[in-house]
Amino acid sequence: MARYTGASCRMCRRENLKLYLKGERCHSDKCSFERRAFAPGQHGQNQFRKTSDYAVQLREKQKVKHMYGMLEKQFRRYFHEADRAKGVTGYNLLAMLEFRLDNVIYRLGFASSRDQARQLIRHNHFQVSGRKADIPSFQVKLGDVVSLKEKSRKNAMIQENLEDASRRGGIPAWLELDKTNFQGKVMRAPVRDEITMPINEHLIVELYSK
Ligand code: SF4
Repeated sequence: MARYTGASCRMCRRENLKLYLKGERCHSDKCSFERRAFAPGQHGQNQFRKTSDYAVQLREKQKVKHMYGMLEKQFRRYFHEADRAKGVTGYNLLAMLEFRLDNVIYRLGFASSRDQARQLIRHNHFQVSGRKADIPSFQVKLGDVVSLKEKSRKNAMIQENLEDASRRGGIPAWLELDKTNFQGKVMRAPVRDEITMPINEHLIVELYSK
């Protein structure tokens, strides 16, 4: 699957929000957003730019897309699936994003960013309920057990990530981590309040519903 390969920190500055795209760097004083919290480009520091409703909706969509490391086509497909499913479209969309395997591995603390999680998945370090899992966009199901393969348990980077997980916000209550056995279980779907990043999903619904 294609993905954005440009400068990640630029996206945080564009969205005026830390998107935590670069793992440990985001939690250190090397974070570019801490040093230059204004939009990139020649007019980045212009405080008086007019913003239309459309621009606000577009920025919200771009922000969430970047957070989860997705490109437009795939993101739009998620929206259509969320719209077809029962329930509230905005919440369905967020739940689908949270149930991506790369996100679950990041949330469980095996990876320091979703991007790193994608790399680890492609390098075949994980299984889902005992089966091969090398597709980052794989949708986990309730009760699925995500485990680190035996041969990868000595991987120093993954061990370090697990140790530092609490510094990155800890493990959400809808997941259960069994650190001793290097595995985590999907206990339930997250409730809306547990998705704590500042997201106004109704703006994305409005944008795509035009
Ligand atoms: Fe964003 Fe992380 Fe870069 Fe900081 S270091 S600007 S949080 S991607």
